[in-house]
Parts: sequence; structure tokens; C-alpha cells
Amino acid sequence: MSVLIYIDSENGKVKKSAFEVATYARAIADKQQTKVVAVTINVPQPEVLAAYGVNKVLSITNDQLQHISANTLNHLLQQAVAKESSTIVVFSASSQAKEVAPLLANSLQAGYVSNIISLPTEDFIVKSNVFSNKAISLSQINTPIKVLGLAPNAFKTEEKNVELTVEPFAPALSNSDWQIQVITTEKTSGKVSLDDATIVVSGGRGLKAAENWQIVEGLAEVLGAATACSKPVADMGWRPHSEHVGQTGKPVAPNLYIAIGISGAIQHLAGVNASKVKLVINSDPEAPFFKAADYGVVGDAFEVVPKLIEKLKARQ
Ligand code: FAD
Repeated sequence: MSVLIYIDSENGKVKKSAFEVATYARAIADKQQTKVVAVTINVPQPEVLAAYGVNKVLSITNDQLQHISANTLNHLLQQAVAKESSTIVVFSASSQAKEVAPLLANSLQAGYVSNIISLPTEDFIVKSNVFSNKAISLSQINTPIKVLGLAPNAFKTEEKNVELTVEPFAPALSNSDWQIQVITTEKTSGKVSLDDATIVVSGGRGLKAAENWQIVEGLAEVLGAATACSKPVADMGWRPHSEHVGQTGKPVAPNLYIAIGISGAIQHLAGVNASKVKLVINSDPEAPFFKAADYGVVGDAFEVVPKLIEKLKARQ
């Protein structure tokens, strides 16, 4: 028996979301008195996972898997589950994880719950965010193997040093693994991806033009944040669609969401409401976003944001 986790990584570096998954898996493993096994692909230093309670790493090194399709990853993880007799598999909320988790669950005839915000109870009941984070659902997973997908930023990382063994793992690959080949993956924008961000700086139509985005980017840079935008901004081509957040865009739940020149329409709020703290900067004191905000600044973004950047730089 074991709890298996898949480690999100970028250019060989373990992502923050993977440490969150490891912390969560460790908590389950402690309750069930079992071990946590992680699968890494082309991560040269998987030893970093020892500090987050991972007992064993199945380390795959294969240049052909640098850009891996969800089908192939599913195939590899099935082999890892069989090898380690895993009964629980935990994924982050990354786009790749969200694609592969249901495929794996289907292949293993396992019950799968996504967007999870709690540890499982003894009867394996988990809480998850549903209906664009407007409701919380309770689900019990009754299958022998259980697949869990965590909600973004729902769990803090917690260090717990354990002894770690790293084992090279060379799962069998078949012709079907090359039916879809990911040729390359390039970042569309931003230094920090929305998936990894603990702070998101988001701009709306109030910024008036694409060229004014430098203030959003400037604030994001000084905070180490990802950038995002409202739907009309992406529709007008001011920003790439990958940055569009909301009901029809990407749902985000950072620790801090800063909305600049965004009115706070219900469809926008649906995708950002789960953020822990929301700061709204808007020139209209009646903007609906203020009702959902933790902190609000009534003012012109073109005056407020440069001053904020200046103050933050001075503090650094
Ligand atoms: P506006 O509503 O035009 O708001 C601009 C704001 O900027 C105003 O509040 C204004 O007071 C403020 N402002 C103006 N000048 C300044 C200044 N100088 N300084 C500071 N503030 C200023 N929208 C999304 O964002 N995400 C979605 O996923 C989404 N999905 C949708 C799905 C459906 C089916 C539908 C019908 C709509 C959807 N929308 C979505 C659109 C949504 O309804 C709103 O139209 C949209 O969110 C408004 O974008 P905005 O706040 O950037 O623009």
C-alpha cells in the first residue's frame, strides 16, 4: 500500500504545487501508516522532496518525455500504481494534472474527486469546491483505488523531513504512447504562471488600452505575482486568452488577488471568489467588486498603482 503523487515540474525544477501535494499526501500517509511515493520526470534533484514527507521517488529520466501527453503520462502512472500497490493517487490543480487525473481514474476503475479542499475522513469523505466555488460538496469515495485532485492553493506546504530513496524508473512505453506527441510547450505570457501563483494582479477594461498594461506588469513584478485579466480584455486582444479568469476563463484561488479597473461582474467573481484576500482598485465607489473585496481603494488606477509600486520598491 502507498499514496502515489505526481510531481509537477518545469525545466527540471519541482513546482510549488508539487510540494503542496506532497504535504497533503504525507498527512494521509501518516493517518494510514503508509508511505508516500512520488513520480518525477526529468527532475535532476528529486531529493528536495524528502523535506515534504516523500519516502520514495520513482525517477524517470527520458528526453523523449520532456513534453509528455496526458495519454502517455496516464500509461506511466498506471505502471507506477501497480508497482507500488498504491491505493490513493493525489494530483495538483495544474492543467496537466487536471487532464491526466480523470484518465487515470478511468483506467484504474477508481473513484475521482477534483477541486478538493479537505483531507479525507476515516470513511473517505472529502470536501470539494463546486459550481465555480460557490458551493461545497461532500463526496465519499468507495472504490478500492481513489484518485484525488486538489483545489489550487487550498493547502499550505509543511516541512516534514523523512528518509528518501530515489529509484530510477523506466516504465514500458508502447507505440500507442506516441499517438499524440507534444512537440513543444511555450509560455504565452508572464514570468509566473497562473497555476503556481500565490499572488495574482489582474486588470480590466478600466485600464483603457493594451499599452497601459505596464502598470499591471510592474506591480506583478515587484510582488512576484502572475498577471491575469477580465474577459473583455482578452476578447479585445489586449491580453492573451490564457490570462482570462472567471466563469468562462481560468478559475484562480491565490492568497492575494488584486483587481485593477475590473467592475466585479458575477461571471468574473465566479472564477476569483475563492482567493483568500481580494484587493480592489477602482475609480467608481459603486463598483460591485467592492462588495466582494477584503480591501478596497477608490481611485484612479493610473495614480494609485504607480504609487503602490513605488512604496513596495522602497520597502524592498
Ligand atoms: P467593465 O465592466 O467595463 O469595468 C471596468 C471597470 O473599470 C469599471 O468598474 C470602472 O469603474 C473601472 N475603471 C474605469 N476607469 C478606471 C480607472 N482609471 N481606474 C480604476 N478603475 C477604473 N467576465 C470575466 O471577467 N470573466 C469571465 O469568465 C466571464 N465570463 C462570462 C460569461 C458569460 C456567459 C457572460 C455573459 C459574461 C461573461 N463575462 C466574464 C463578462 C462579464 O459579464 C463582464 O462584462 C466583464 O467581467 C467586465 O469586465 P471589466 O470589469 O474588465 O469591464
